[in-house]
Amino acid sequence: MEHVDVLIVGAGLSGIGAACHLQEECPGKSFLVLESRGAIGGTWDLFRYPGIRSDSDMFTLGYAFRPWKDSKSIADGAAIRSYIEDTAREYDVEQKIRFHHQVLSAEWSSADARWTVTARRTDTGETVHVTCSWLSACSGYYRYDEGFRPAFEGEQDFGGEVIHPQHWPEDFDATGKRIVVIGSGATAVTLVPNLAEAAEHVTMLQRTPSYIMSLPGRDPLAEWLRTKLPVKAAYPIVRWKNVLVTTAFYQFSRRFPGAARKVLRRLTEKQLPEGFDLDTHFNPPYNPWDQRLCLVPDGDLFRTLRRGQASIATGRIARFTEKGVELESGERLDADVIITATGLNLLPMGGMSLRIDGQPVDPSKTVSYKGMMLSGVPNFTLVIGYTNASWTLKADLVNRYVCRLINHLDAEGYVSATPVAPPEGGDLPFLDLASGYVQRSLGDLPKQGSRKPWRLNQNYLLDVQLMRRGPLDDEGMTFQRALPAPSTQKAVA
Ligand SMILES: Cc1cc2nc3c(=O)[nH]c(=O)nc-3n(C[C@H](O)[C@H](O)[C@H](O)COP(=O)(O)OP(=O)(O)OC[C@H]3O[C@@H](n4cnc5c(N)ncnc54)[C@H](O)[C@@H]3O)c2cc1C
Repeated sequence: MEHVDVLIVGAGLSGIGAACHLQEECPGKSFLVLESRGAIGGTWDLFRYPGIRSDSDMFTLGYAFRPWKDSKSIADGAAIRSYIEDTAREYDVEQKIRFHHQVLSAEWSSADARWTVTARRTDTGETVHVTCSWLSACSGYYRYDEGFRPAFEGEQDFGGEVIHPQHWPEDFDATGKRIVVIGSGATAVTLVPNLAEAAEHVTMLQRTPSYIMSLPGRDPLAEWLRTKLPVKAAYPIVRWKNVLVTTAFYQFSRRFPGAARKVLRRLTEKQLPEGFDLDTHFNPPYNPWDQRLCLVPDGDLFRTLRRGQASIATGRIARFTEKGVELESGERLDADVIITATGLNLLPMGGMSLRIDGQPVDPSKTVSYKGMMLSGVPNFTLVIGYTNASWTLKADLVNRYVCRLINHLDAEGYVSATPVAPPEGGDLPFLDLASGYVQRSLGDLPKQGSRKPWRLNQNYLLDVQLMRRGPLDDEGMTFQRALPAPSTQKAVA
């Protein structure tokens, strides 16, 4: 059976980042990337709806080790996909990717100190086994085959087309159509201005409003610095500026929710046409950052509203009708097309199951260690980015940390690293977001402890200290030598 030192699952932003870090920081290690799809890019290859773009800035969504050279701060899906592909090529990790390999399960053997990974070839149906010493799940956080789509009464009566943004039809033409977009998250606010360019009218139909903030599509500091400094010198400056600004606004929102609400309200008010019913459509019942804040580049959504190309309806759907949607208030929205921007289905670990020495692992019974490993699970990383800042900030930290850990195992003659749960247990949720897609799946996710190193900070500045400079052999981690004792006691050199 083929053996590699490290097996990475997924060739999205996180998986390619993990591969580049390994190549640079663990030069002697062999590794493979198994990817179930036929392309690099993950999210940025899957989603193809009009206008698909990042809603956090590319100077922090880009890798720390490879500058984002475009002056656009909010980039479209194709540009992000190219950036990931170019990174894989530049760091020479492309040839390590095996496409069409969906990882189904992994079994750890303590006696051999290795994982046996089972994958299914999505093109031929063949089963493939690979063994590895370290397994890194860079498989994102949601189901690829199916988005979240609640059932609506009367759906069968609707005479038009219903589309979920996760499965966008390539040949869709919005010209002259009346479109209702159900949702108020990042996808809905992206779709509305983009569809409105050609459609007769677009209505964003939301049950609950979101906080929506306009951000310059191009970063003025980046624009200025690019005339003064080489890209490599300018990139970290803009990156750190953005880290500090977003962290400061997040902290301000959590500590002073009333004041943050007022700031956001004032900013929104300035962008809306006179007489617009802000209290109904832009006044969420929750505090800023209880759910992810939506960013729109250069106020594109508000511009569409000002021009009358789009409108917002806030209310609960009673049923679909032959002609469109009827709300509980009795209001009717006629439509040729209904787009259900109703979200994602969370899927921890890309759907793979884990066993340790024959015993199944239930992730919901584990406590996460530094937001990247699971208690009782040796040599295994689960790469999940931030929910309150750019995903890659955290993924980069985790991928570097894994390299440190692997080098530490080699230097000290250990074969495995296994986190332990805190003595008091862990009962905090893994993700601190009230968003529907998170709440629907919290029960399947690991728990968090209430203190370091079992608490995920969701704060890049604190995590840099913890992950780059913090000790590897803290109270949450145990190390084992070859032929380890059955328990995961701390091995002493
Ligand atoms: C529409 C949309 C917009 C977003 N915008 C932002 C944003 O602006 N900023 C931000 O920080 N985050 C954003 N996110 C979150 C986004 O997912 C991350 O930015 C980032 O792309 C995640 O990268 P990843 O590699 O961890 O996961 P993914 O991009 O999901 O890639 C995972 C890869 O793993 C593969 N895979 C999964 N399971 C298996 C398996 N069992 N076997 C083999 N391969 C497997 C998948 O096919 C995929 O290629 C957005 C998400 C969505 C859906």
